[in-house]
Amino acid sequence: MKSSGKRLPLSVLTLAVLLSLSGCSSAAVATASAQASETRRPVPTLAPEEYTAELFFTGDFLIHGAVYADAVQADGSYDFSGMLAELKELSAGYDLKYYNQETILGGTELGLSSYPQFNSPQEAGDAMVAAGFNLVSTATNHSLDMGVTGIERSVAYWQEQEEAYGVHMAGTYLSWEEQQAIPVYEVNGITYTFLSWTYGCNGLTAPAGEEYLVNVYAGRQEELLEQIRQADALSDFVIVAMHWGTEYSMAVNEEQQTLAQEMAAAGADVIIGNHPHVIEPVQRIGDAVCWYAMGNMLSAQNNQENLIGMVGAVTLHKTALGSEVTTSVENPRADLIYTYYEPGYVNFRVIPFDRLDDSLLPGCQQLETSYDQVITSLDDSVVIGGIRLEGENE
Ligand SMILES: [Zn+2]
Repeated sequence: MKSSGKRLPLSVLTLAVLLSLSGCSSAAVATASAQASETRRPVPTLAPEEYTAELFFTGDFLIHGAVYADAVQADGSYDFSGMLAELKELSAGYDLKYYNQETILGGTELGLSSYPQFNSPQEAGDAMVAAGFNLVSTATNHSLDMGVTGIERSVAYWQEQEEAYGVHMAGTYLSWEEQQAIPVYEVNGITYTFLSWTYGCNGLTAPAGEEYLVNVYAGRQEELLEQIRQADALSDFVIVAMHWGTEYSMAVNEEQQTLAQEMAAAGADVIIGNHPHVIEPVQRIGDAVCWYAMGNMLSAQNNQENLIGMVGAVTLHKTALGSEVTTSVENPRADLIYTYYEPGYVNFRVIPFDRLDDSLLPGCQQLETSYDQVITSLDDSVVIGGIRLEGENE
C-alpha cells in the first residue's frame, strides 16, 4: 500500500473541519432533540470512496510459421480468433487485459517470417483485441527483427487500435518525445501507467540516436527506474512489462531479483515478466507483486514446458478519503494454460487447465500440481485459481 502525500495540508485541513463540524452537530442534535425535533440537522460524514479495477495478464504470443499457417482461411486471409476463444472466455469481465506481443506485427505486405527473425500478420493483433486485450507490450528481443520498418508498421498498427478500441501499447516508439512521455490512463476512477522494457534485441541495435525505437534497459537501467518514479508520482498504479530472465529456466536469475527490488522501490506496483518461454514463480516484493515469467501464451514450440504458460490477475484497489489516496494490489492469483495442437501443427488452441483432460494433455492433473509448485515456490501467499470472474469457476 502506498500513501500519496499530494495536497496533504489541504487534506488534513478538510478532515479537521469536517470532524469538528461532525462533533459540533452531534452535540447540537443531542441537545436539540430533547426540545424540538425540527431543529435537527444532517450529520456530515466523511465516507471513503472505494475504486477497484480487475487486471488480467498472460505471456508471449510467439507466432511461428506453423501458427499463422493454421490461421489461413480459404480466401487467404488470417483468422486467429478460434485459437483464442477459450482464453477470451477465461478472461471475460476484466477491466484491463494484458499480453506480450513477442513478434512484430509488420503485416503481410512486409512478407511474413518465422524463427529466427519473425514478422507476423496483423490479424493476430486483431484477434487479441477482439478477445478484449487492451494492454500490449512490444519491447522484446524480437522488436528489431524487421528493422526500423517493422517497428514503424507495428507502431502504426497499434496506434490504429488505440484510436478505434482504446488499446494501449508500450515498448516501441517513433520519436524521443513519445518514448519519454509517461502516459497516464484511467479505468474505473483509477489512474495507471503502463511501461514495457526488454533486456536487448538478440544483438540487433537501433541506429545511433534512434534508441527511442525500443526500450532496451541494458545500459539504461536508470532511465527505466526514473520512468517508474515519474509514473508513481503521476498515477495510482504503475504496471511494468519486463522482457528478461534466462530462456528455458524456471528459476529466477540474479538480475531479475535485483531489478525487481529496484523497480518495486521506485514505485512499480505490478511487474509482469516475459521471455523465458517457461513459467517462473510469483513473489510479493514490499507492496508490489512480481510475476517473474508468464511463459508462452501461444507458440508452436515442441517441448511440453514451453506449451504450459501462466495467466495472472490482481485487483487494483484505491481508497480516497478527501484528497488522501491509498492504493493496494490485492488478491494476486495465477493459473495455468496450455497451447494445444494436433500432429502436423494444426488446430492450435489456448486451453485453460480447468478445461483440460487426459485426451488433450495426458497426465494433466499431475502436471498441474508440479507447475503450481513452481508458481508458489518463492511465495505461498499467491492463490492458485480464482481467475474466472464470469461463469463457472474452478
Ligand atoms: Zn523473448
